[in-house]
Amino acid sequence: MSQDQHDLAGSHYDLVIRGERVLTSSGLRPREVGVRNGVIIAMEPLGNDLQADEIIELADDETLIPGLVDTHVHVNEPGRTEWEGFSSATKAAAAGGVTTILDMPLNSIPPTIDVEALDIKRDVARDQVHVDVGFWGGAVPGNVDKLRGLHDAGAFGFKCFLLHSGVDEFPPLDPDELEADMRELATFDSVMIVHAEDSRAIDRAPKPDGDDYAKFLASRPRGAENLAIAEVIERARWTGARAHILHLSSSDALPMLRSAKHDGIRLTVETCPHYLTLTAEEIPLGATAFKCCPPIREAGNRELLWQGLEDGTIDFIVSDHSPSTLDLKDLENGDFAVAWGGVASLQLGLSLIWTEARQRGLSLETVVSWMSEKPAQFAGLTGKGRIAPGYDADFSVFAADDAYIVDVTKLHHKNPLTPYNGKALAGRVRKTYLHGTEIDFTTPRGRLLRRGMAEVG
Ligand SMILES: [Zn+2]
Repeated sequence: MSQDQHDLAGSHYDLVIRGERVLTSSGLRPREVGVRNGVIIAMEPLGNDLQADEIIELADDETLIPGLVDTHVHVNEPGRTEWEGFSSATKAAAAGGVTTILDMPLNSIPPTIDVEALDIKRDVARDQVHVDVGFWGGAVPGNVDKLRGLHDAGAFGFKCFLLHSGVDEFPPLDPDELEADMRELATFDSVMIVHAEDSRAIDRAPKPDGDDYAKFLASRPRGAENLAIAEVIERARWTGARAHILHLSSSDALPMLRSAKHDGIRLTVETCPHYLTLTAEEIPLGATAFKCCPPIREAGNRELLWQGLEDGTIDFIVSDHSPSTLDLKDLENGDFAVAWGGVASLQLGLSLIWTEARQRGLSLETVVSWMSEKPAQFAGLTGKGRIAPGYDADFSVFAADDAYIVDVTKLHHKNPLTPYNGKALAGRVRKTYLHGTEIDFTTPRGRLLRRGMAEVG
C-alpha cells in the first residue's frame, strides 16, 4: 500500500502491536497500538482489530513498555573507542530496552566542548547507531563563549566537573566559573549538569590504597559530595539557571535537595542502578569492576536513596555507563587507587531496577516512569518516554517474570566486565522497536538527535 493510500484509508498501519498489557499513560491496559511512519497513531481497546502490514501479538507473559531513555552514557568514540564505541554501546542499549541515549562530552577525544567537536562526534556516530543518540556539551574553563554555539547546534545541555574528571583534557570548573557559566546558560534556558564532588574535600580525604574497598570509600567521603551539591544549589539559586545533580550517591544530600526544590530552585536529580542495587559491604577485595565516582556506599545509604526516589526528591534513574579497557581496571592487582572509575551496566539497568523494585512492592509502571518518561521530560525529548498517540514508536517487549543469570560474555558492550556478572535478575527484554521497526543488531537505524528536534541520521 502506498503512503497516500495509507493516509486515505486512515485505518491501516505499518505495524500493530496487540496485547493484554500495554503500558499506557493511564497504566497497564489491554490495547492495540497502531504505528505509521515510525510514530504511534492509534491506541485502541484490544479487540478493535486494527489492520496492518505487520501484526505482533504479545504473549501472555509480555508487557509492551515505552523504550527507555538513558541520558547518562559515556560512549568514548572517537579517541577512546577501545573503551566503548557507538556500535557496541547502542547494541547494548537496544538489548536492554533503551531506545534513546544521550552521550556525555568527556572521555572521547576531542571532548565535546565546541561545535567542531560536536560535528566530529556526529560524523563518527552517523551510520552506526542502533538507537537514537543525542549529545551533551561540556563546560570547561575558558569555553564560556562556546556554550551558545553548542546549544544552537543541538547540545542538550552542559556537563561540568568540580574536581579532576579523570581525563586531563576535560578540566573542572571552580565554583565561580560554575556560576559564570550558569549565568550564560540561563540566557538561553539550557541546563548545567554537574558531577558534584568537591575537589578540596577530596584532596584532604585519606588516599585510596590497595584492594580494600573501605579505603577507597573513605577517600570519596559523603562530605565531598554534600559540599559540592550545596554549592550547586546556591549557584542555581543566585543565577536562576537550571541545574541537575548527576549520579547522586550520598543520601545525606537528600534533605537539602528536597528543601531546594521546595524553594523553587530549578533543580533535578538522578541516581544510578549501582547505588540502588549494590552496597559497599558486599564488594570483594580487589573487585575494581565496582569502582565508580562518587562511590557505591553502605546499605543504609542505599535504603535512603530508594526513599528519595519514592518521595520524588530523586527524579529518575540512568546508567552512567562508563566502561574502559580491562587493563585500566587493574584486574591483576585489584588496586582501587589506580583502577579506572566507571561501571558498565547499560544493557542491565531495567532488570537490575525491576529486580530490586518488585521486592519493595513497587510497580513496573513506576520503574518505567523513572527510566523513560522522567528522563525524557528532563532532556526535553517531547516525542519519547510514553506509549501515546504522537509519540515515537519506540518500545520494548518485556517479560517481567522471566529470570536469568548475567553472563558478561553475552553482553553487547565492548569490554567484558561488569560488577553484575553472575547476578540473578528478574525481567528480560525480548525485543526492542525503534521508530516502529524491530532492532535487529545488524542494520543501524538510529537517528542523531538535536535538542528539540530529530535529525534523520
Ligand atoms: Zn558519568
